[in-house]
Amino acid sequence: MRPIATMDEKHHTNEVFLDDVRIPLGNLVGEEGRGWTYGKVLLDRERMVAACNAIFLTQMARGIRRAAERKLGGIALIDRPIVAAKIAQFEIEVQALQAMVLRLMDEAARGADSGPRGSMVKLRWSQLLQSGMSLWLGAIGPEAAHFEGLDGAPGHFDMPYALQGALYSRVTTIYGGSSEIQHNIIARRALGL
Ligand SMILES: Cc1cc2nc3c(=O)[nH]c(=O)nc-3n(C[C@H](O)[C@H](O)[C@H](O)COP(=O)(O)OP(=O)(O)OC[C@H]3O[C@@H](n4cnc5c(N)ncnc54)[C@H](O)[C@@H]3O)c2cc1C
Repeated sequence: MRPIATMDEKHHTNEVFLDDVRIPLGNLVGEEGRGWTYGKVLLDRERMVAACNAIFLTQMARGIRRAAERKLGGIALIDRPIVAAKIAQFEIEVQALQAMVLRLMDEAARGADSGPRGSMVKLRWSQLLQSGMSLWLGAIGPEAAHFEGLDGAPGHFDMPYALQGALYSRVTTIYGGSSEIQHNIIARRALGL
């Protein structure tokens, strides 16, 4: 197993090598040679589950609002129309994504095939997470650059680790299949291109 360091300065990934693996025939899932077909269903489900983190985006929107109470030049950021509009737009998009994720979960719970919609919500969730993180860092301001408190007490902006979270959020457009791959899946399976 070879550790892979990530830019949030944590160790939570490894490159794992499996050599000379033998599996008893009784453990065969489905038909031999169709592993990738079955794997794709699992990947669809994984993407859908990742997007369930959309719920977290609502909390993040609240964090952004609180951080935007910070005053700059005597005026709270949240009182500036351009900032207020950006936050409102983020909240609207989060609500739309949540509605989509909840509908998908409901259908999946009733046994429906999620099809390429796992890719759609994963793609949208990852984009929103990254844009929300940028908004949040902007609202916190230069203090966001302080890495103090990373392993200790939360900062005064409720959610600690904002910068670390923003750095980690870069991975969401890579893992579970990169955004380019999600676009390809949507183009092929949803749009028939
Ligand atoms: C933090 C982290 C955690 C991870 N966790 C896991 C895990 O738990 N389990 C696991 O199995 N894997 C995990 N991965 C691996 C992850 O799924 C892959 O990194 C991801 O699918 C991208 O594949 P790749 O790294 O081989 O990139 P590549 O496929 O080499 O892609 C490189 C670049 O080329 C682009 N590209 C590739 N093919 C195409 C194409 N056909 N069309 C257009 N563009 C293309 C990609 O978008 C990307 O920008 C993790 C990765 C990271 C970074």
